[in-house]
Amino acid sequence: MPTLLEDLHALLSVQAIDTRIERAKSALNTLDSGADIAAVYNAGKAEFDALRAAMVKAQSEQKDAELKLQSLEEKRTEVEKTLYSGGITASRELDSLNMQLDMLERQRGDFEETVLKAMDFSNVSLKNAQKAEARLLALAEKYKKVRAAYKQQAVKVAADVSEIEKERVGLITGITPTVLGRYDTIRMKRKGIGIALMGTDGACGACHTKLSSNLRDDVLVMKQPMTCEHCGRLLAPPSAA
Ligand SMILES: [Zn+2]
Repeated sequence: MPTLLEDLHALLSVQAIDTRIERAKSALNTLDSGADIAAVYNAGKAEFDALRAAMVKAQSEQKDAELKLQSLEEKRTEVEKTLYSGGITASRELDSLNMQLDMLERQRGDFEETVLKAMDFSNVSLKNAQKAEARLLALAEKYKKVRAAYKQQAVKVAADVSEIEKERVGLITGITPTVLGRYDTIRMKRKGIGIALMGTDGACGACHTKLSSNLRDDVLVMKQPMTCEHCGRLLAPPSAA
């Protein structure tokens, strides 16, 4: 069985290792995981979908207007053919055909305007959709790069952590299980720090509070593991360093 001093000495090394593991992991957390770009991309995708829907609608409206104009032209040709065929001589009928032609002529003007407007709108919406698509492609490219860098770093951190964890396994085998269990419990609850060295000035190495003289004596005597009255961490005497 190791002595308490040996346990505390080993625990200080374990603490150093645990701190290294925490640091490696938190370094990974500060890296750009691409989440921000993904959010921008998703917003852009929604915008692009809306623009594309507007474009499809504009194109179908243009097609519609063109078809209407085309059928009006056909109607006009037909009326003209009848009018100039020479088959119709009654003035009332001729007047009626001429009136029809005038009306069709006016309608044609309106329809042509509608077609032009639809074409304009369709072109604008096409350009907008194309721009949005280009932005999306650029974002996707950027996301790919950021993710690749992140993954590469994550693999490196995982390898580092697994290497440090191997060291930890080697260290903890020699520690009394109950003492190690206590350290682990405190470490989980206290921001990753489970043990601290008591300074020669009698202060806790973690929270820097001056310890009572009774506690200082108990830490030095090492009959049992002692904890800081303020932060609750295990205390190791200066000789355990
Ligand atoms: Zn403390």
